[in-house]
Amino acid sequence: MKALAFKEFGGPEKLALLDVPDPVAGPGEVIVRVRACALNHLDLFVREGIPALKTPLPFWTGCDIAGDVAEVGSGVTGVKVGDRVAVNPNLTCGRCEFCMQGEDSLCVRYGILGEHAPGGLAELVKVRGDNVLPLPAHVSYEDAASFILTNMTAWRMVVTQGQVRAGQDVLILGVGGGVSSTAVQIAKLCGARVIVTSSSDAKLDRARQLGADIGINYAREDWAKVVFEKTARRGVDLVIENVGAQTWKQSIRSVAKGGRLVTCGATTGPIGETDIRIVFWNQISIIGSTMANRKEFHDVMRLFFEGRLRAIVDEVVPLKDGAAAQRRLAEGQQFGKIVLTV
Ligand SMILES: [Zn+2]
Repeated sequence: MKALAFKEFGGPEKLALLDVPDPVAGPGEVIVRVRACALNHLDLFVREGIPALKTPLPFWTGCDIAGDVAEVGSGVTGVKVGDRVAVNPNLTCGRCEFCMQGEDSLCVRYGILGEHAPGGLAELVKVRGDNVLPLPAHVSYEDAASFILTNMTAWRMVVTQGQVRAGQDVLILGVGGGVSSTAVQIAKLCGARVIVTSSSDAKLDRARQLGADIGINYAREDWAKVVFEKTARRGVDLVIENVGAQTWKQSIRSVAKGGRLVTCGATTGPIGETDIRIVFWNQISIIGSTMANRKEFHDVMRLFFEGRLRAIVDEVVPLKDGAAAQRRLAEGQQFGKIVLTV
């Protein structure tokens, strides 16, 4: 089969369509014929090389996958060849204390398809039989692929960790990103008032179309000051963070008394300044979040299939143009997801 693979770590110029061996379904596994695979920053990190991962080369990434079941291994039930499916990218051991609690993304051997195993930037991908979810006929492969990872992540952040309730204020930073943009529609579904920031007026307009109530252009305005004004100096009940070092200090100041800050990333750097006095005096919670568990995956996919949450697709391009697409993702020009079709 063909895969958009790299033989050494580095920039997008390392990517090439290579002939690689077809995967074979072992017991409990299925092979999916990939139709669409969306890009994430994770694809870029793995391509550039994550020393701790010891990624075997050649390797190909891709964790947001939709396609057709092409082969079914022994012991897999409820799935047949030809089924249209979306793929849950969680890789778990199934037997640690966290797996026993159903907390997949806390698994001590947790991994992500396309990071810890070859992914969907290829014609075929091997996945666990219980990680494929039937795709209703009205949902396109492109929309499904674009939806999975960011929505799993945003759902756990806003609903499970953030505990948002109707009428609350939610601040979402850097709204152009995949998780941030979809967190807008999830927070609106929960009945919150949503404040977003971006340095691009075009991205703020897109966020308003998704339901955002207040947009702040941080290139022109002191966003933390505007948040204070818009909340009558109270602050917001929940901050959704993945910017990191650049916004951390002000993010903590923006949380209302008793409120929460949930973070899933540190795009601008991992070390932030925390005024501990604000944390204890205002009794705020700082909560980490990564991906989602199986229940959260199913909850958010059901809302997608019902049309209550939408896919946010920036562009769809063929797999052979994947290097240019990854370059574009790295530049941060997109709003929502870039999807490759196979
Ligand atoms: Zn486990």
